[in-house]
Amino acid sequence: MLRKLDYGEADRIFTLLTKEHGKVGAIAKGVRKTSSRLAAPLELYGHVDVLLARGRNLDVIAQVERKPGPRIPADLDRTAYAALVAELAERVTEDRNPVENLYELTAWALNQLAADDDPRRGSAYFLAAALDLMGYAPQLAQCARCEGPLPDAPAPFSAAAGGFLCPRCSDPAEPVYETGAIKVLRVIFAGDLALYRRLKLGPGIMEAVEEVLASQLEYHLDRRLNSLRFLRRMRTAG
Ligand SMILES: [Zn+2]
Repeated sequence: MLRKLDYGEADRIFTLLTKEHGKVGAIAKGVRKTSSRLAAPLELYGHVDVLLARGRNLDVIAQVERKPGPRIPADLDRTAYAALVAELAERVTEDRNPVENLYELTAWALNQLAADDDPRRGSAYFLAAALDLMGYAPQLAQCARCEGPLPDAPAPFSAAAGGFLCPRCSDPAEPVYETGAIKVLRVIFAGDLALYRRLKLGPGIMEAVEEVLASQLEYHLDRRLNSLRFLRRMRTAG
């Protein structure tokens, strides 16, 4: 369940990410009435089994059942990350056009956000996978400008160049990241989930990893992500 929008007196329109049909918009009629049986299981960012009936414009949600699994606690931090995953999942797909693995990946990321100690971990993996799906994975093995070797040392990241820079191409305007963060990014983009889960990652490293992913995303998406802006505001306020 990626998004919801109140409609009319008591209806609500949902954007669903489905396994077989990609992104689908569907209306839940009367869902804002207290008597509605649809209301409880139709939670934002929830994982549901849904039966849709063909409508004139939008499909109509006829039946819905929550799937078993952890639910995202109602804390601001986790909800903000869930919003980011949902916004990005929506951005990556077109209506009724499934993108391979995106459904599984999104369900996995939302599950991690519900269950993991650090909501950044699952979301970082998802951001990287989304970048990869869009063809914007950053250059991590060599210098993004000259393709020369990257020494085992802290390096600046340039979203414009599409990756980390060697000392020769280094630009003082770009933020520099520790080797730890660069190595974690390599593990993530290699898709090595098993290793990623075993890594002990402090908040500093995860923050750096997230910063790199966010700057790469924002550079390549033509519209900014509202949820990313919200997360940043939340962080500076906290
Ligand atoms: Zn270079």
